[in-house]
Amino acid sequence: MLEGTGGVWRVRTDGGETIEASLRGRLKQEPSEGVPLKLAVGDRVGVAPDERSQAWTIVEILPRRSQLGRRAPGGKRTERVLAANVDQVVVVFSIARPEPHVAMLDRFLAIAEANDLPARIVVNKVDLGGAEAVEMKFGHYRRAGYPVHLTSVPQALGLDELRQALAGCASVLTGPSGVGKSSLLNELHPGLGLRVGEISESVNKGRHTTVGGYLHPLPGGGYVVDTPGLREVGLWGVPSRTLEQCFPELRPLLGECRFADCAHRTEPGCAVRDAVKRGDVAASRYESYLKLREELEEAERAW
Ligand code: GDP
Ligand code: ZN
Repeated sequence: MLEGTGGVWRVRTDGGETIEASLRGRLKQEPSEGVPLKLAVGDRVGVAPDERSQAWTIVEILPRRSQLGRRAPGGKRTERVLAANVDQVVVVFSIARPEPHVAMLDRFLAIAEANDLPARIVVNKVDLGGAEAVEMKFGHYRRAGYPVHLTSVPQALGLDELRQALAGCASVLTGPSGVGKSSLLNELHPGLGLRVGEISESVNKGRHTTVGGYLHPLPGGGYVVDTPGLREVGLWGVPSRTLEQCFPELRPLLGECRFADCAHRTEPGCAVRDAVKRGDVAASRYESYLKLREELEEAERAW
């Protein structure tokens, strides 16, 4: 399912044709474990022609292999799914114009981790920044295990590698507006014909009113999912105690703290704080952890 607006869903058939279908009536299937209740962009669906009108109707939503959304507390069904059947999250920032806001990057990465989705980072506009600036701001992400792509549209840098990284899989592409997401996709796949500024994380231009997302099929297989709502999803529903697991560079340190329930704040004998002091964990990542943890605890208190 590519896109849904006002009760009409655009569905791409296995033959590569795009049809419009409605979701009238009841779904054929019984509600059961693993079967989604609400359609999301990226869902695989079964369609059938309506007997009277001959229009297509969605009769079935197939089980998802993955999804990106916020979790309901207690492991219940996810309340809001931004995209279904996603393989990876690709977060795009620019080294300048606009300056990278790494706290936002850390939030996106934690959301990906909380959804068990691998993430990669694209640092675009490297024509505007020196290699040291890139290394200083993004080197520790690579050391933490995230693939980091350095790209420039005018200098045609890193584009082949990025094209390969997106090929054949469903990628949620996100990042602040103005970093070059539309420009990059157009450069990778000129046939997409996106307007500059078309892929945008924060602005909902009214086109995606129902599900807030759009799926761009890539030539040669795979999709790029454009989800304006990722920032709003936040980390709601992730238990604050498990946030530490969403920071890969902290994982090897967990269990090394003096207290088993260490929140890595002011506790004595904290292996995480020691690692930050040694420079093994970036101070900015530690700050992001503290800030997100505070947010989650506040949400838990409000519940
Ligand atoms: P989006 O909002 O993330 O989709 O960003 P756009 O693709 O609309 O690009 C925003 C602006 O950045 C446009 O003026 C682009 O021409 C410019 N831009 C995109 N990529 C690069 C790049 O690699 N280097 C430079 N210098 N400018 C770029
Ligand atoms: Zn600790």
